[in-house]
Amino acid sequence: MNNLELIKKLNSNGTLLHNEFVQILATFTKDDLEFAQSLAKEIATKHFGNKIYIRGLIEFTNICKQNCYYCGLRAENKNVQRYRLTKEDILSCCEIGYPLGFRTFVLQGGEDSSFNDDLMCDIVRCIKEKYPDCAVTLSIGEKSRESYQKLFDAGADRYLLRHETANSEHYGKLHPKNQTLESRKNCLFELKEIGFQTGCGFMVGSPYQTFDALAEDLLFIRELSPHMVGIGPFIPHKDTPFGDKPQGSLHLTLLLLALVRIMLKNVLLPSTTALGTIHKKGREMGILSGANVVMPNLSPIEDRKKYMLYDGKISTNEEAAEGLELLKKRMKSIGYEIVTDRGDFPKNQF
Ligand code: SAH
Ligand code: SF4
Repeated sequence: MNNLELIKKLNSNGTLLHNEFVQILATFTKDDLEFAQSLAKEIATKHFGNKIYIRGLIEFTNICKQNCYYCGLRAENKNVQRYRLTKEDILSCCEIGYPLGFRTFVLQGGEDSSFNDDLMCDIVRCIKEKYPDCAVTLSIGEKSRESYQKLFDAGADRYLLRHETANSEHYGKLHPKNQTLESRKNCLFELKEIGFQTGCGFMVGSPYQTFDALAEDLLFIRELSPHMVGIGPFIPHKDTPFGDKPQGSLHLTLLLLALVRIMLKNVLLPSTTALGTIHKKGREMGILSGANVVMPNLSPIEDRKKYMLYDGKISTNEEAAEGLELLKKRMKSIGYEIVTDRGDFPKNQF
C-alpha cells in the first residue's frame, strides 16, 4: 500500500502494523504530510469545533533529582539557578490566570523531594477549594501508586508523564540506569487505573531515535489509549550530554501530531512550546496538524528563564499568559478560537 492508503487505513482501523508505520515515517512526501494534516484537522474539528483549550502552565520547581541526558534541569547541571515556588506563589499564579480565562492549571516541575505528598496534596486542595470550577493537572514525574492515589484523592484531575520512548534500548540511551521504561510504563498504567485523565508522549528526534522506535511509540500510545499526548521536537541544551546533538525535525513532528490525531480521534493534543520554539509559526502549524490545546506560561516572569529544559525556550510572547491576546489573534488568523473552559477529555460521540 502507498502512504496515502496507509493513512486512510489508520483512520478507519485506528492502528497500523509496525512496518506500515515505519514506511510512512521513513518515506513520507509533502503530499502525504498535507493529506495527514488535513484529515487530522478535519477529525479535530469534528470533535472540538474550532475551539482551542488553554492550560496555565506553572513551573513551580526546577530542582530535580533525576539525570535525564536530554534535559537542562538534570541534577548534574551545575549551571542552573535553582528555585522553588511556595504554595502562596503558586496560588498567586492561579489568581493571575483565572481572570484571564484559564480553567486548568498545570503544575509542572522537576522531581523535587521537598514537595512531598503532604505538601503537594495541600497545594492541590487549596487550588481546588479556591477554584472549584478549575481542573488541576500534575506533571511531577514518577511516584509510587500510593502517592498518585493520594494526589488523586486530594482532587488532582489529570497527570502528564511522557513515556519519552517506547523502545527500552532507546530509553536506556536517554536515561541513566536507575530509570527504566518498565517503571515509566507502569506509572502510566497506574495513573490511568486510578482515574486520572492521563497523558503520555515523546520527543521527536531525540538522540538515537529510529523510525522503529517511533513506530513503537505509536503502538504504545494505541495500547495505553491515553487522554492526552504531548509531542514536541527534541531541542539540545548546551549543558547536557546531548548539547551537540541536532534538534528534531519540524515536518516529522507535524506528521506525528497528525498521525496521533487520526489514531485517537478525540485525544487532547497540545501544540507544544518546543514546537513554537523551533519555528515562529510552530504553534499554528501544530493546530493545523490536529492539535487542540495550548499551554501558555503562567510562572512568575523572573523564574521563567531558570526553567530551561532546552536552549532558546520561548516564554515571554504569545506563549506567555500575559501574551494571551496575541495568542488569541494568532489563533483567530487561522480560524480558531481560544475558549474559557476546563477542556476535559470528551466522551467519544462519534
Ligand atoms: N520532571 C517531569 C516534568 C518536567 S520535564 C518529567 O520529566 O516528567 C517535561 C518534559 O520536557 C519531559 O517529559 C521531556 O519530554 C521534555 N523535555 C525535556 N528536555 C527536553 C529537550 N531537551 N527538548 C525537548 N523537550 C524536552
Ligand atoms: Fe528531571 Fe523531568 Fe528533566 Fe528528567 S525531564 S531531568 S525528570 S525535569
